[in-house]
Amino acid sequence: MAEFTMELNDEQKEVRDWLHGFAADVIRPAAAEWDEREETPWPVIQEAAKVGIYSLDFYAQQYFDSTGLGIPMAMEELFWGDAGIALSIVGTGLAAVGVLANGTEEQIGTWIPQMYGDPDDVKVAAFCSSEPDAGSDVGSLRTRAVYDEAKDEWVINGTKTWATNGGIANVHVVVASVDPELGSKGHASFIVPPNTAGLAQGQKFKKHGIRASHTAEVILDNVRVPGSCLLGGKEKLDERLARARERATKGGERVKNAAMATFEASRPAVGAMAVGTARAAYEVALDYAKTREQFGRPIIDNQGVAFQLADMRTQIDAARLLVWRASWMAVNGRPFTAAEGSMSKLFASETAKKVTAQAIQILGGNGYTREYPVERMHRDAAIYTIFEGTSEIQRLVIARTISGTPIR
Ligand SMILES: Cc1cc2nc3c(=O)[nH]c(=O)nc-3n(C[C@H](O)[C@H](O)[C@H](O)COP(=O)(O)OP(=O)(O)OC[C@H]3O[C@@H](n4cnc5c(N)ncnc54)[C@H](O)[C@@H]3O)c2cc1C
Repeated sequence: MAEFTMELNDEQKEVRDWLHGFAADVIRPAAAEWDEREETPWPVIQEAAKVGIYSLDFYAQQYFDSTGLGIPMAMEELFWGDAGIALSIVGTGLAAVGVLANGTEEQIGTWIPQMYGDPDDVKVAAFCSSEPDAGSDVGSLRTRAVYDEAKDEWVINGTKTWATNGGIANVHVVVASVDPELGSKGHASFIVPPNTAGLAQGQKFKKHGIRASHTAEVILDNVRVPGSCLLGGKEKLDERLARARERATKGGERVKNAAMATFEASRPAVGAMAVGTARAAYEVALDYAKTREQFGRPIIDNQGVAFQLADMRTQIDAARLLVWRASWMAVNGRPFTAAEGSMSKLFASETAKKVTAQAIQILGGNGYTREYPVERMHRDAAIYTIFEGTSEIQRLVIARTISGTPIR
């Protein structure tokens, strides 16, 4: 087990500087254009693939870094560049992690390369869990997967929504219920291979922020996938369902805790994205406050402005520390006795919303225009308190964990 450290090692610093260079030279200059176009920035993803940032190798290297700092460091730098473009670059990784965490070696080897494609022909992947009537309440999802034993195929029907890269992905990972009576314990994940009949993109959403990231409904109409597309395999699923049915009679506590641990482990990554956006807006505001003059002096000479910047920086650093701690705990299998993963995501996402709003205020009229990036950063920051569990859901998880009470 690695000791918790707040210092990046030399190798991590090198990777951070390399990512920062890409974010500053490639992502940042493209941000306004793709935000206006509201389209997936394929050329930027391709650039990222050419230098090795858009690849499973890179993602896995950070994911398995035992210090826990690899993923938060990478997310912070890329999202510092631009949130919408960065989500287009890391969105595939989020789907790939679903396969890495639950898939067999054969599934990992078969499907993850197809999620990324290659630098001359890049592809993306989508993770489809949310539904129109199952957002925060993930247990209530209605998409059904039924096993057709004669053909060794699963038949999937349902409507997914809010899927990042939904419909444009080469590979979709779809969460469906195989046993509705078990609620979330009866869920399983399936690979839907490229060009599978019955999968179609529904509405593409026009969004407030992260507009370079494609978000859409995914319709599954009698989608048939081979038995080998069930992540983890049928034997493992049958065993898990049998255990869940047995525990359902005893309250099901252990299964619920396993699902909780997965979320706790993935939430710090979203917290790190929020830290990246917050830091970007803070830096713009700090520079501006030092150079903009009113009443014959730089506006930072006023405590009213300087104290805002002091608060912004304090909150960003506090958010990063919570994120790093939770990420270290996740990688090293530490128990989340106070929902530290949710805590990090809650604090970092609320910080990003607050700090980007303060940045607009410090830039005055300029902050309110698209001539300056803080307006876009503020729109982008609003997503962090919504996806991967809203702030209210994070508070619910933390409150339940610290109290041991099923607070509603
Ligand atoms: C841009 C974007 C990208 C996304 N990408 C993906 C993706 O790739 N894959 C995917 O599966 N999903 C994705 N999502 C879905 C996202 O995870 C959900 O939007 C989120 O979980 C909230 O669900 P909801 O929108 O249905 O809101 P609801 O659950 O309807 O919540 C509405 C409001 O009610 C509050 N609320 C709900 N229940 C409670 C409660 N018990 N106590 C207190 N308050 C409560 C919420 O906090 C929120 O403020 C994405 C969403 C967006 C906007």
